[in-house]
Amino acid sequence: MRRAIYPGSFDPVTNGHLDIIERGCKLFDEIIIAILVNPEKTPFFTIEERQEMLAQVLEEIEHGSCRLRVDSFEGLLVQYAVARQAHAIVRGIRAISDYEYELQMALMNRMQAADALRTAGANVVDFGAGEPDFDTPENIKRAAAEAMRAGKTKYTPTAGTRELQEAIIDFYAREFGAHYQRTEVMATSGGKQALFNAIVSLINPGDEVLIPKPYWVTFPEIVVFAGGTPVFIETEETGFLLTLEMIERAITPRTKAILLNSPCNPSGRVIPPAEFKRIMELLSDRGIYAVSDECYLRFVYPPGQVFSAAGLPAELRTQLCVAGSFSKTYAMTGWRMGYSLASAEWTRAMLMVQSHSTSNPTSIAQWAATEALRGPQESVATMLDEYTARRAWLLEALREIPGITCNEPEGAFYAFPNVRGCLRGQIKTSDEFARALLDEEQTVVTDGAGFGSEGYIRISYATSMAQLKEGVQRIRRFVERSI
Ligand code: PLP
Repeated sequence: MRRAIYPGSFDPVTNGHLDIIERGCKLFDEIIIAILVNPEKTPFFTIEERQEMLAQVLEEIEHGSCRLRVDSFEGLLVQYAVARQAHAIVRGIRAISDYEYELQMALMNRMQAADALRTAGANVVDFGAGEPDFDTPENIKRAAAEAMRAGKTKYTPTAGTRELQEAIIDFYAREFGAHYQRTEVMATSGGKQALFNAIVSLINPGDEVLIPKPYWVTFPEIVVFAGGTPVFIETEETGFLLTLEMIERAITPRTKAILLNSPCNPSGRVIPPAEFKRIMELLSDRGIYAVSDECYLRFVYPPGQVFSAAGLPAELRTQLCVAGSFSKTYAMTGWRMGYSLASAEWTRAMLMVQSHSTSNPTSIAQWAATEALRGPQESVATMLDEYTARRAWLLEALREIPGITCNEPEGAFYAFPNVRGCLRGQIKTSDEFARALLDEEQTVVTDGAGFGSEGYIRISYATSMAQLKEGVQRIRRFVERSI
């Protein structure tokens, strides 16, 4: 009888694990799926939960005559394998999408570990937040309260209220000289839903969607959800500044669309307007659709200028969808308000997706968003001033830490430093760097690998100057100690 051990943390079990087990069943008479008990890690699921999950999913896989058992072990794998009289240890390469899924889990694990530390009374500095540390401005809250009292609590048209659509149209006319019709505008539940609608309504199985690296973690997931294939564009050679030539090199006959994000989360880089126009000319020439995620539209630092692809000449935007958001600009992340601007034809398709999934965004939040666009804009300027000061301080402080280099982010509220110069000994990856930093200095940063850029970490400066100073001091201490 040929017995094999398939070791892992299975925290949680994924399709990739099952695929390997299924393939292993063709080679062995028995496979022991052995959960490694690692007392040094805070797991997402307990050993018992993982055992139960595995037992459940194993019932559903093709295992032929191969026997499957679930066990757990601590210590050396080889010793365990000998004790179980196993003939082999199963290892395998899993699908890329599986790793991406696991990265999400790793991020959740990190957040959970930080939460556990906080609950235990530790003074955690959190640079992980992707949302403003400001409160929603009063006038916006008031508009929502008034809407609620006035009974504006019913369904609205799927595309949003006329008032909100017109407020969006006026904003783009005023700021960018763009002329959109109501048939081309729809309100969505966050910018995320605008992106989802755009990709799901456009992409067919086999279509390739270009995604420049580093990318916001959701981009590849939406493309995979729609049955498309994400094709990543490397941009490290220019310090993450996307160029027309990089796009040109990545285009194939299957390229259907590109996901652009400027200012970019996580790099903070901004595509200069002239380059953006050249890119849109190329795409329009090749008949490739563009989805421009303009979530951080208003957070561009001087001398950079706020730019929207919506302001390009009409002939360059026939295949363009702008995905906008109220979340960051007006500190409204929890209200879930966003919108899209696209051709009437594409908007009709997106309306179908939305109408059969979430219908309209919350009616009250739509009235809040209308006020956000129509009311005073001082809060945006105040936030931008604060981010400007934090950014200047942070960049200088980071550059003084040995082994760390950092491009200048022209927008958003993230710095994306390269920490490869600090990787040595036990700390070989940016994930290990982030994990050790949390363990040793109770400071949360986000590993760049989740954004497609191993060797980098993301630091959100949407946090107070005092926290920023404390956190950077901790990073410095941590780096100096490990070098
Ligand atoms: N796009 C990017 C690049 C983001 O960073 C985010 C949020 O973090 C979103 C879109 C989605 O924002 P929301 O759905 O809150 O509008």
